[in-house]
Amino acid sequence: MILILLGAPGAGKGTQAQRLQDKHGLIQLSTGDMLRSAVSEGTEIGLKAKAVMERGDLVSDDIMTGIISDRLDQPDCTNGVILDGFPRTEAQAEALDSMLADKKMSLNAVIEMKTDDTVLVERVTGRYTCANCGAGYHDKFLKPAEEGVCDKCGGNEFSRRSDDTAETVTTRLQSYHNQTAPLLPYYKGKGILKQVDGMAEIEEVTLQIEALLKNI
Ligand code: ADP
Ligand code: ADP
Ligand code: ZN
Repeated sequence: MILILLGAPGAGKGTQAQRLQDKHGLIQLSTGDMLRSAVSEGTEIGLKAKAVMERGDLVSDDIMTGIISDRLDQPDCTNGVILDGFPRTEAQAEALDSMLADKKMSLNAVIEMKTDDTVLVERVTGRYTCANCGAGYHDKFLKPAEEGVCDKCGGNEFSRRSDDTAETVTTRLQSYHNQTAPLLPYYKGKGILKQVDGMAEIEEVTLQIEALLKNI
C-alpha cells in the first residue's frame, strides 16, 4: 500500500504517519526528516538543502525525486509506505507517477489533512521531538504523560527544528498554497483523493484515517 499524506506545515502529517507506521507496519517516508539527517551528516545533499530549508523554501525537485526513488528501492518498503512531505510540487507528483510505474508499484490513496491557516503557527512553534526515538510532541496539544520524559522510550532529551519559527511558517504556507495545493485537483482527477478534518483532535483524525483505510 502506498499512501500520501498531504497538508500544510503543521497539519499533522508526521503525527499521523508515525501512528500508521506503529499500527500497520507501513514505513513513514518523511522527506523533511531525510533532509534534516542529510544536513546533520553534512552530505552533499545536506549542504545544498541547508540554507533553502532555513528560509522555508523548497528543495529542488531533482534532489527530492532522487531521494524518494532510492528509498523506495530498499527492501523494507515492499510492505507499503506513507509519503509524508512528498510530493510537494506538480513536477514531483509527475515524477512519482513515472517512478512508481517503473517499479511496478501503485498509489492507493492521497489523504488531504484539511486545516485553517490560523492554527498552523501555534502548531509549528510548539512542536518538539524526542531526540532519542523521534516521537513527536507539542507544548500544548500533545504533552508526554510525565513532563520531560518521552512516553515511547523514556528518553529525556528533546529537540526543536530550527525552521519552526513564525517567520518561516509564513513562507512555507505560501509554498503550500502556491505549489502543493494544486496537487489536490491532480489527484482528485485520478479518483484517489480522500479528506480528513485536520482541525479535529489528534485521536479523532486517526479514527478518520482508519475509517478511510477500511475502504482502500
Ligand atoms: P506536519 O508533519 O504536518 O508538519 P506535525 O504532525 O508535526 O505536522 O504536527 C505539528 C504539531 O502539531 C506537532 O507538535 C503535533 O504534536 C501537533 N498536532 C498534530 N496534529 C494535531 C491536531 N490534530 N491537533 C492539535 N495539534 C496537533
Ligand atoms: P512540515 O512538517 O512543516 O511540512 P517538512 O519536515 O516536511 O515540513 O519539510 C521541511 C523542509 O524540508 C521544507 O520546508 C522544505 O524546505 C524541505 N522539504 C521537505 N520535503 C520537500 C519536498 N518534497 N520538496 C521540496 N522541499 C522539501
Ligand atoms: Zn523517545
